[in-house]
Amino acid sequence: MKKNTKLVSSGRKSEYTQGVVNPVVQRASTVVFESVAQMHQAIKERSHRTLFYGRRGTTTHFALQDAIMELENGAGCALYPSGAAAISQSLLSLLEAGDHILMVDTVYEPTRDFCDKILTRYGIETSYYDPMIGAGIESLIKSNTKVLFLESPGSITMEVQDVPELVRVAKSHGLVTVLDNTWGNGWQYRPLEHGVDISIQAATKYIVGHSDVMMGVAVANERYWPQLREHSYLLGQCTSADDAYLALRGLRTMPARLKQHEQSALQVAKWLAEHPLVDHVRHPAFTTCPGHEFFKRDFDGSNGLFSFVMKEGSQKAVNRFLDALEHFKMGFSWGGYESLVTANVTMAGLRSVTGWDHGPIIRLHIGLEDVDDLIEDLDNALSIYESNL
Ligand SMILES: *Cc1c(COP(=O)(O)O)cnc(C)c1O
Repeated sequence: MKKNTKLVSSGRKSEYTQGVVNPVVQRASTVVFESVAQMHQAIKERSHRTLFYGRRGTTTHFALQDAIMELENGAGCALYPSGAAAISQSLLSLLEAGDHILMVDTVYEPTRDFCDKILTRYGIETSYYDPMIGAGIESLIKSNTKVLFLESPGSITMEVQDVPELVRVAKSHGLVTVLDNTWGNGWQYRPLEHGVDISIQAATKYIVGHSDVMMGVAVANERYWPQLREHSYLLGQCTSADDAYLALRGLRTMPARLKQHEQSALQVAKWLAEHPLVDHVRHPAFTTCPGHEFFKRDFDGSNGLFSFVMKEGSQKAVNRFLDALEHFKMGFSWGGYESLVTANVTMAGLRSVTGWDHGPIIRLHIGLEDVDDLIEDLDNALSIYESNL
């Protein structure tokens, strides 16, 4: 079966759908048993696709888990109430006091804060590494290093990592590899196929796709699935059936949406790359993006999220630019059908081992609006930027 066909057919067993196209929304805390024998059977099979108790999930959750597990080619998929929960709970299910974790310096800010503010309290130490370090990661591995955490492309600055090389070194030292694959979304990038053990996504972004549900997913390989599943369950992680339903509905149209996001974003990025105020674009499909060669080698296309770097700037110019935009709303999420913008004048506080000696960086999410309207909006806001330099 090819990719699109597989995505359309996954998670649609008749026990989930009950004769209609989509799974039934099965809301439940309590599951009731008809007999002692049936209850004992459920206890025995509780870690599989069996109704046992609401926190273990219902058929609606099983349908979504099946579909995402097949998308990312894993042995199982755990669901969480947000992407941040998927990251923190996956890490807690792997780490113990005295462990050390190697964390990419370009990681999503709340992941950094989780390491610095929470893992430290449990005696777990974090070191940050340059996303472009490649085989040099070996020199940072200590005797107590347990996890290598990757995020590719990096948050805001978009560096694409040499995942196979990093994984090769990590494996040779017995480390677990975990990758935040929110940008790669499982359709354009499948980390498990490159040797990663656990792939995490904020399904909040492209899977849900409509900015109306918070959801996190973590897909593990055979080796780590039993531990991830059981520990996340013991940490009390679960989601509502309604949210699982919406995430699965979003997933069905994700490839079609991604195609449009990709095409429009490439057009906007090309226009920006030519703009006299712009130093360069940080879009993985452009040679000006660090790690572009790894993007070309490992990914099946790009999407709506990228950044661009200004030649010069000031907080005032950036603020006026943001206020002048009409179609790009200011907002911290992305992956929905609408265009969004955020800006950083410096990366101070967000990086500890890589510097930032460029001008302000502006991140765009290109939504499904007409590209001409988006470019006109940017053109207008950039002239206001210039008059406020
Ligand atoms: C949004 C995001 C998260 C967190 O997801 P939430 O669902 O908002 O908690 C994690 N990683 C990356 C790369 C993200 O963009």
